[in-house]
Amino acid sequence: THDVLIVGAGHAGAQCAIALRQGGFTKSVAMITEEADYPYERPPLSKEYLTKHKSFERILIRQPGFWDERDIGVLLNQRVTRVDPGAKTVTTEDGDTIGYGTLVWATGGAARRLSCDGSDLVGVHGIRTRADVDRLEAELPTAHRVVVVGGGYIGLEAAAALSKFGKDVTVLEALDRVLARVAGKELSRFFEAEHRAHGVDVRLGVGVDRLIGGSGRVTGVQLADSSMLPADMVIVGIGIVPAVQPLIAAGAAGGNGVAVDDQCRTTLPDIYAVGDCALHSNDYADGASIRVESVQNATDQANVAAKTIMGTGHPYDAVPWFWSTQYDLKLQTVGLSTGFDTAVTRGDPATRSFSIVYLKRGRVIALDCVNMIKDYVQGRKLVTARAEIDPAQLANPGVPLKDMVP
Ligand code: FAD
Repeated sequence: THDVLIVGAGHAGAQCAIALRQGGFTKSVAMITEEADYPYERPPLSKEYLTKHKSFERILIRQPGFWDERDIGVLLNQRVTRVDPGAKTVTTEDGDTIGYGTLVWATGGAARRLSCDGSDLVGVHGIRTRADVDRLEAELPTAHRVVVVGGGYIGLEAAAALSKFGKDVTVLEALDRVLARVAGKELSRFFEAEHRAHGVDVRLGVGVDRLIGGSGRVTGVQLADSSMLPADMVIVGIGIVPAVQPLIAAGAAGGNGVAVDDQCRTTLPDIYAVGDCALHSNDYADGASIRVESVQNATDQANVAAKTIMGTGHPYDAVPWFWSTQYDLKLQTVGLSTGFDTAVTRGDPATRSFSIVYLKRGRVIALDCVNMIKDYVQGRKLVTARAEIDPAQLANPGVPLKDMVP
């Protein structure tokens, strides 16, 4: 039995354990994860780890000795399949039962798989774990034609990384623009043009019918219009399925995520949920119930849960932020642009350094900043204040955003 048992040792799980110890929590704390590795950063998997600019050791959240020194148990290679909130135990796939005083569910999600024929052929990869990327990299020397399914951040980052390696890369996006779920049209068009300028074949409004194989290996992608694209490797970046089944089966409210209140409590006693799997009412989405898939959210929710467990809790109200790197472009996003009614461009996208400010009913709700760190830093204050600013003023890159803070 552990006083605090954390299921999942990703960004949220690791941070929760760290925050408990930093806050002076002296009782027993353990993390249990199905992965074989100590906690590591996930964003580099489609960036510096994939391009081999960073070794695995450099993406560890802490050096392995850290956990022992802080008396934080790390149970690797163990998947929790059942939660019994009455007995306060979890059961692993191997049949072990572990007791808890408080349970923190920090399981993130699994890369969503294609549901069509051929999705389990060798050569078809998701990018969610270190093991996924290591498997993919082992095949790279013999894979020349790579098809990326999904024009979201992970698909586009993978396309940028692999085109740098000289691969022949095609991105297939079912909607009429890339990044459609997370950004406005102007940013989508900008990134489509960048990828094309780097030789990536970006195809929009294209559905995948099935994956074709020979001797168990993928050899091509059949598109909805019946045409065939040859492929030595297929990378699938179509989002995640939150890993919440054992908690939902135990009676927790939720579905596409596990529902939590503003202190990350689930509807089950002494069970919290944090990070990608936590469905919460977000102030920056007008209170809508959403999951936020970012390191920021994982870290902030983990801190909130740790403090609540220690009795010093405060509600979760952090402003969302996110980044993405593709080629030499650093995109930084603050706020959530969903539901915006006005988008203002600051600066000229042709210079590859500009920002887009999103407004809703006259108030600033989010910014996408490309190679424009100043706007990102200063714009955060506008988002936090939901500042009401004249779009014409925002459009003038000569006026710093900090001068517009009300
Ligand atoms: P995770 O980090 O996914 O950790 C959950 C852990 O729980 C995993 O190890 C999982 O295997 C384990 N687990 C799940 N179920 C069980 C179970 N039943 N039993 C035991 N263990 C279990 N965010 C950004 O802000 N910026 C970026 O640039 C960015 N880039 C990304 C690039 C990639 C390739 C990926 C995959 C994600 C990226 N993200 C980025 C998102 C970010 O990594 C996630 O938001 C973050 O990892 C969420 O943390 P988490 O702890 O909630 O989940």
